[in-house]
Amino acid sequence: MVLDPDTLYLGDNGRCLCGRCSGATAQYTGRDISGQKVEPVTESTILEFARMGFRVRCEGCGALAIIIKGNGVAIEAEVQKS
Ligand SMILES: [Zn+2]
Repeated sequence: MVLDPDTLYLGDNGRCLCGRCSGATAQYTGRDISGQKVEPVTESTILEFARMGFRVRCEGCGALAIIIKGNGVAIEAEVQKS
């Protein structure tokens, strides 16, 4: 598996999924089904989203991308009951 389950990735059309929720194609090839390379969410992505009033979270499980000072980007799993 080339994707880290505990990292959020941006794919085609700005879709945001963690490594765990990404499809098998992306998990094993690093590309989504349209052939687009998925890119790990970076600090600048999170800051850019924050400026627009959004938080970067997985569309599948709701895990939130957070910046850990001095230690880059991590994700925080959120318990979302709906
Ligand atoms: Zn997820």
